[in-house]
Amino acid sequence: MEFNGDFFNLPESYLFAEVADAVSGYEVLHPDKRVLKLSIGDVTLPLPPTVVGAMRSAAAETGDKKTFRGYLPYEGCGFLRESIKNYYKSMGADVSADEIFISDGAKSDLWNLPDLFKRGLTALVPDPVYPVYAESNVLKGNRVVYAAATEQNGFLPMPDYGVKAGLIYICSPNNPTGAAYTPEQLQEWVEYAIKTGAVILYDAAYESFVRDGKSARTIYSCAGAESCAVEICSLSKTAGFTGLRCGYTVVPKALKLNGVSANKLWYRLKSTCFNGVSYVVQRAAEAAFSAGGLAEIKKNTGYYMQNAKILSGALSRCGVPYWGGKNSPYIWLKCPRGTDSRGFFKELLNGAGIAGTPGAGFGAGGEGYLRLSSFSDAETALEAAERLENFYKTHPISAF
Ligand code: PLP
Repeated sequence: MEFNGDFFNLPESYLFAEVADAVSGYEVLHPDKRVLKLSIGDVTLPLPPTVVGAMRSAAAETGDKKTFRGYLPYEGCGFLRESIKNYYKSMGADVSADEIFISDGAKSDLWNLPDLFKRGLTALVPDPVYPVYAESNVLKGNRVVYAAATEQNGFLPMPDYGVKAGLIYICSPNNPTGAAYTPEQLQEWVEYAIKTGAVILYDAAYESFVRDGKSARTIYSCAGAESCAVEICSLSKTAGFTGLRCGYTVVPKALKLNGVSANKLWYRLKSTCFNGVSYVVQRAAEAAFSAGGLAEIKKNTGYYMQNAKILSGALSRCGVPYWGGKNSPYIWLKCPRGTDSRGFFKELLNGAGIAGTPGAGFGAGGEGYLRLSSFSDAETALEAAERLENFYKTHPISAF
């Protein structure tokens, strides 16, 4: 036997371990100083009351012989698929309930989606971005090419007809840069996919943070997207489900290759590798999409966005170039010239007691940048803003 040799083509994931080690090292040396952890992309607020109430009722149902349920449909319960369909309707997008597949979160579906397609494909992945897109393709023996997201293109790469790729990943709003496409820009990607016969995997995990009224919240606001795009979304950041686990993937019936529908094959794949999300969690997710749940979610995402405003306000006052924070819980800031992202991460940790995430962890294109997360308490954000202002007094802005 041999292990899958593609494991050895995966990038080493030592960076995040290095970050954790540096933070604990700092805490040992400075037991009196609180490290402000703005590195994690995990929510800090508890689940909305409507969601918790729905779980209590659902848990009671599981203890009654009349309402107890065992295995549930692989694709998810009808009640939840209907509520997500209505959510899409409220965004002006027409998606039918049988095109929505309930999952235990976006990560597993993102991992499995390349299995729909013939091995050896070429995936076009933005750089920098959430690392799972590239890594799933590397481990499945596919080829990965990158679309550079740079300051010059506002971290929003646009189609290049010179690049040949079968699978196109789009993450909007983007993790880590916070950049979000407008529906007009996405329309260009849809046209590119239709013309070149490619398939788009659109990750909308942060759609509920869009605030500017201009950026897209779903790719299905674009004409023709139903024939070329799969959309992956999650309740993790939206509704605080990072620990509870629930997401959904829209696989349109109109997306066909050689006359075969992707929807049919996705059902085949999911029914083979997945036995569904628990009843209690699906009722919790249904409650998240109710009017009460949506109002509570908006309040929670608003709280994180207020943190983002506090942090970005401090950076603006210091004259530090940054992006994001407007339609995303992440702020992407530029490291001073001559410092790489790891070096600047250490400088900020040692100089201000603030832990961010080095941009290099999201791809080569992230080198020279640092991500700050607004998933924290308001007090932490306020203290971080104050510490940032003090830090930049001794770190000249002219160095950018
Ligand atoms: N997609 C993006 C862009 C993310 O940042 C994350 C998590 O950080 C995920 C997907 C995975 O989310 P989930 O918790 O639903 O697996």
